[in-house]
Amino acid sequence: MLSPAFCPDCGSACLRETPDGDHRERSVCTSCRHIHYVNPKVVVGCIVEAGDHLLLAKRNIEPAHGRWTFPAGYLECGESSFDGAARETKEETEAEVQRLGLHAVLDIPHIGQIYKVYRARLVGTHFAETPESSEVRLIGMADIPWADLAFPSVAAALRLYARDREAGDGHRVHTGSVTWTGQGSRFDLAQYSLLDHHAH
Ligand SMILES: [Zn+2]
Repeated sequence: MLSPAFCPDCGSACLRETPDGDHRERSVCTSCRHIHYVNPKVVVGCIVEAGDHLLLAKRNIEPAHGRWTFPAGYLECGESSFDGAARETKEETEAEVQRLGLHAVLDIPHIGQIYKVYRARLVGTHFAETPESSEVRLIGMADIPWADLAFPSVAAALRLYARDREAGDGHRVHTGSVTWTGQGSRFDLAQYSLLDHHAH
């Protein structure tokens, strides 16, 4: 979410200022006057089901190296959000997936991200380690490594999924905001809560 210090268009220095008629500071080029807006990014991912198990990956890259996640990454221009989620799944785990439905749309305002998480089914039986994942495993619901999950958003999405499964009355589409308390480390999952949660 960094604003550029130098103009990507002309290379001149940028300064923080509030453009006329705007309501917040932007990075504005001192030469060509281009205003560089920085807006939230969309992260797409798949909770991949294989019978009673979920396909989880241990991250082999920073941030959160060595911690567990379901496959997820930034949506690219030109792809639909499920296609992006399936692509990330393939890149991180080599798995092919079939779409089951939308699981959650979670805002993470303080880092400018929106997570769009799908439920998907593993197609066939193939999955493997990749340069991005040091381990890829099918993990039973009772063995999800809650204390070693990569991101608060991943933990929130999985918790909602586990709750739906336990309730046994079908899956819902969840919306909400994953919000940092502002205390302690940003990497401490205990410092986050899910606000404005709705299940549709
Ligand atoms: Zn410029």
